[in-house]
Amino acid sequence: TRKKIVAGNWKMNLDYAEGVSLFSEIVNMVRDEKKGDQIAIICSPYIHLNSLAKLGGETVKIGAQNCHQNESGAFTGEISAKMIKSVGCEYVIIGHSERRQYFAESDALLAQKTTIALKNGLTPIFCIGETLDERNNGSYFEVLKSQLEQGVFGLEAADFSKLVIAYEPVWAIGTGLTATSDQAQEVHAYIRKEIAAKYGQEIAEATSILYGGSANPKNAAELFAQPDIDGGLIGGASLKSRDFVDIVKTFN
Ligand code: 13P
Repeated sequence: TRKKIVAGNWKMNLDYAEGVSLFSEIVNMVRDEKKGDQIAIICSPYIHLNSLAKLGGETVKIGAQNCHQNESGAFTGEISAKMIKSVGCEYVIIGHSERRQYFAESDALLAQKTTIALKNGLTPIFCIGETLDERNNGSYFEVLKSQLEQGVFGLEAADFSKLVIAYEPVWAIGTGLTATSDQAQEVHAYIRKEIAAKYGQEIAEATSILYGGSANPKNAAELFAQPDIDGGLIGGASLKSRDFVDIVKTFN
């Protein structure tokens, strides 16, 4: 059975004190609500990672939102996968559409970031998703397939099987416009089929595929009830402890 995962992505929000405060609330609430086999993660800004990793323990895991593609060196202002791992952080989001769009991160670069994250013992949450134009002109399956092929299908099976995949349709991120559960299920099933074609049925069945894009406590139950949706990557709603924990609870 696949891991059920609810991951919050705080993006560039919350100063240090605000982040520690919100996270403490989340940990206390999740401790009471979470079932054993389910994973709750908060992906915070770098600044917060060290403290949150200590506060979260086994209850709420920590992820970064990005990492540099090189091991170390003269890259002023950047943060390495090894540094992220060294503070007790276990996950890293790679290929978020905001990174692709605003920081011009290409599939080839994201493949490098994925490799370095795995090498340093981090679990990448690798994001793919189509734009509104690509949805409307019907090219979205091709777009998603290409993002998988260029981004992660270069990995050996043993490495690929460590990944979490997130489907985040760009048109649904921060817009309040959620993909319907049918639309999301259609894409998740397609992603799983492509993984099976590349790595075989067993790995495809074991890969957790998360949905992201205006997920909230109201629509989470229907989304998570779909056979190929194994959890969510939550933006806005992860900035409110009650909303985030209500989404976590949806799996109970
Ligand atoms: P929203 O939940 O705010 O739409 O953001 C989704 C997202 O980008 C998570 O990574």
